Amino acid sequence: MKIKLSFKPKIYTVRFDDKYHVAIKIETENYIHNYSFESFKNAIDLANKILEAGNIDLQYWRQENNKNDIYDKFLICKKKRQTKAHIWTGLDTSCTMWSTGGLGNGKDYNLYNTNLGRDICTMCCQNSKKDN
Ligand SMILES: [Zn+2]
Repeated sequence: MKIKLSFKPKIYTVRFDDKYHVAIKIETENYIHNYSFESFKNAIDLANKILEAGNIDLQYWRQENNKNDIYDKFLICKKKRQTKAHIWTGLDTSCTMWSTGGLGNGKDYNLYNTNLGRDICTMCCQNSKKDN
């Protein structure tokens, strides 16, 4: 069954079972795309393709309602201990450093459930307050 996406669909890249997936929230239901990726950059590429297409085919997605915490993530460079944790909003960091290239090629970054004890990026904090 094909579903047309709303104007501003809630589409996210998430870490799930140690792989990266594209997830989407439709009303109150969470769906996870069947494809999984080792790198979340690939998941972002898929998410952007889906956004471009403007619709999803539910046969490639599974409903996932047992995990409500899948969307709350931090983007952290584990290799550099002094770097801050960024708040991941699904396809970008709250401070937009990811999409504007401020985090370099991003290959050493990963998504985590917690901030791993790191300080949180000041701009991410400010922007996420604005959103709420
Ligand atoms: Zn940030």
